[in-house]
Parts: sequence; structure tokens; C-alpha cells
Amino acid sequence: MYESAVQNLIDELGRLPGVGPKSAQRIAFHILNADSNEMTKLTDAIARVKQTVSFCQICGNVSETPTCAICRDESRDPSLLCVVEESKDVVAVERTRSFSGRYHVLGGSINPLAGVGPEQLRIRELVARLSDERITELILAMDPNLEGEATATYLSRLLVPIGIRVSRLASGLPVGGDLEYADEITLGRALEGRRVISEGNRADQLDPAQDFEQALAEEAAEKAEREAAAEPAPRARWSGSMFDEIDRDAQVAAAAFEAEEGESPEQAPAEDAREATEAGREAEAQRQEAYQERLAELKKEPLRTVAPDLPPLPGRTYVNPWE
Ligand SMILES: [Zn+2]
Repeated sequence: MYESAVQNLIDELGRLPGVGPKSAQRIAFHILNADSNEMTKLTDAIARVKQTVSFCQICGNVSETPTCAICRDESRDPSLLCVVEESKDVVAVERTRSFSGRYHVLGGSINPLAGVGPEQLRIRELVARLSDERITELILAMDPNLEGEATATYLSRLLVPIGIRVSRLASGLPVGGDLEYADEITLGRALEGRRVISEGNRADQLDPAQDFEQALAEEAAEKAEREAAAEPAPRARWSGSMFDEIDRDAQVAAAAFEAEEGESPEQAPAEDAREATEAGREAEAQRQEAYQERLAELKKEPLRTVAPDLPPLPGRTYVNPWE
């Protein structure tokens, strides 16, 4: 045990949140050894905060004036109210920059073990605000722990009958985390607070299996239709304007040949068919011959390119495809 003044300081420091006996001792000895001017600054800061800073008369947030800066801000949405446990939660929500409404600070959470019940919190003031102000939605932003759950449940039971829209923060999974490491309460709440991406239009379909079969049949029919459409038209013996002339010549030659033979319509059908095939064979041979001739002619000509004026690219080898 230390001298009574030192022990008194350690005891007082030990009552601060988050400060255990060892930390209290360490801080007390730091104060003892520190420059007295520095410590005066600290005591002045504590005295000033106690004299000037109080709580906003409307929302309960810390404020140096009777109403806080957020309650005085006319640009904030008066229809939205975010209910939080402590002033530090206001700072946390403000930091997200996603909320443009106003706040209500309860001053704690329901904790029967610590003797904190609804009557110790600023719930009476909250209900009074709901009847006075143009509030249409209430967001319950309690801490995600047992006390926060109890407070949110109590508030929703109390406020839902009033007819106001009440929502709760979706308890999310941490970004960058792994689903398998999430505890069951977090995962359960995240599942409960899931967001709908699409409402879907299949609710009126009674039989999913039949529905599936129908979809398959539709898909098959569509595929068949597509294939039928894609089937190529029978191609000409040879195509391309380059060969049109040759083809025409061959046809003329075949017609001339047929005329020379002196076919008559009175010929027997079998004879007629035989004549037809022979004429066809002859025409085909002539066509082949004409084609070979034209091909030989084309091979003599130099190859034409799309842009014949362009000089060949340096460093490129050009190959004659005819060889
Ligand atoms: Zn305020």
C-alpha cells in the first residue's frame, strides 16, 4: 500500500473504464513523475469538460450548447431517427457518412445485472420526440451484444404499436472475413437481415419440376429452330463472279450439244433419261475444261492485292499461293 494520496489516485484511476489495477498504478506513477505544468493541463481539461460540456436537450448527445450541432443542422433529414446507446456511437455512425437523419442517445443499454432498466435510459424522451417531431422511421443501432439485443427488443416491442416504421441495423459479416469463422449469432443475424437482389417472377408457378421440363423443351425447340435457320443453301457448282462467265459458256455449249443431238419430246422416258445423263456428263466435261483453261490463264497474271499501289512491307516475304 502506498501513501494515502497516491493510493487515492490509484483507486480513482482504477474506476475509469478499461483501466485495471496495474494500469491505474502505472498511470498514477506517471502523474507523480510528470512535469507539473503538463498535469495542470490535464486537470484543467477535466475541469473544463465538466463545466462547459453537457448533454443536448433534444437528443442527449454531448454538446457545449443546450442543443447539439446535429440537432441545430437544418439540412438534416428530420424524418429519420437513429437510436444509439452512447455519444460515441453517434460519432461512429457519422463517420460512415451514410446517414443524414438525426440521433437519439439513450445513455446506455438495458442491463439487469448492473441494475440498468428502461427507466434509467432516455426512453421517455424518445417517446416524447416521436409524438412531437416529423419522424417516420426509427433505426435501432444498438451494440451487437446481449445488452444491445435486449434494448433493441424492448424498444421494438414498445414502438411498433405506435405505427412508426422501425428498422434495425443488419448485423453484417466483416468485410475480408471468412464465413466459416463467423460465430453463429453473427451468421444468423446476417441471414435474417439478408438483402433481396431480385424478387423473382416464378412465385405463381406451381410445379417447379414441370416448369423445369418445360424450360428444357423450349430450349430444345429453340435450338432446332436455330440450326434449321443456319443450314446453308445448296451451293452452286462454283460461285464467285470470276467464274460466272465460264459457267455461262459451258451452259451455252451444253445447250448447243443437246440441240445437235436432235432430241424430241416423243422419246421414251428411259431413253430420255439416258440421253439426259449423257448430255449432263458432256456438259460437265466441257465445264471442267473451261475451268482448267481459265485457271491456267489466271496463273499467268500477277496476283492482285486489295491495294496494289502500296509498296511491299520491308522485311516481309511474299509467297505466290499458286506455286
Ligand atoms: Zn442533439
